[in-house]
Amino acid sequence: MRGRSSAEWAVTVGSQRCPQCGKKPVGVVRASPWDRTWHWFNSGTPVPDTMTCEDGHQWSSGSISSVRVYRPGHDWAWLPVSLSRMVSRHRSMQAVPRTYVLAAVVGALLGGLLELLVGWSWWLVALAFMAAVWLFFLSSAFWGPDPVRIDDIRDVIDPQGS
Ligand SMILES: [Zn+2]
Repeated sequence: MRGRSSAEWAVTVGSQRCPQCGKKPVGVVRASPWDRTWHWFNSGTPVPDTMTCEDGHQWSSGSISSVRVYRPGHDWAWLPVSLSRMVSRHRSMQAVPRTYVLAAVVGALLGGLLELLVGWSWWLVALAFMAAVWLFFLSSAFWGPDPVRIDDIRDVIDPQGS
């Protein structure tokens, strides 16, 4: 999909036809705010919308928000963003919001213990613990089954090159 703008992409996804009868969607069924929040908390991704056609078939539209990606092309100011997106894509392990909440709880408990024992600030330990969890998941982009390669970095720096 290289070279297509994010706007084109969103339109294509939005006009997706019914996989059963091929008709155009007539409505979108959205999950409740609670369901959306809970889904995000557990998966880190938005709930895909459910589309309906006039015959009442329902299908998942996929996550429209995830394809509305800003495509910076050759704007060098966006290079760090593109690079971090590329690294994120290669992560074999993805932390979800739930992971960080757990990490915060564990870090705070550990910090409380260390504050009692050696006088460290509990919140510093909690922060460091969360940072360590984040780094661990990020590092899976380099040791996972689909590690970042030189070509991936070259692709980001020069998307038109071969
Ligand atoms: Zn249909």
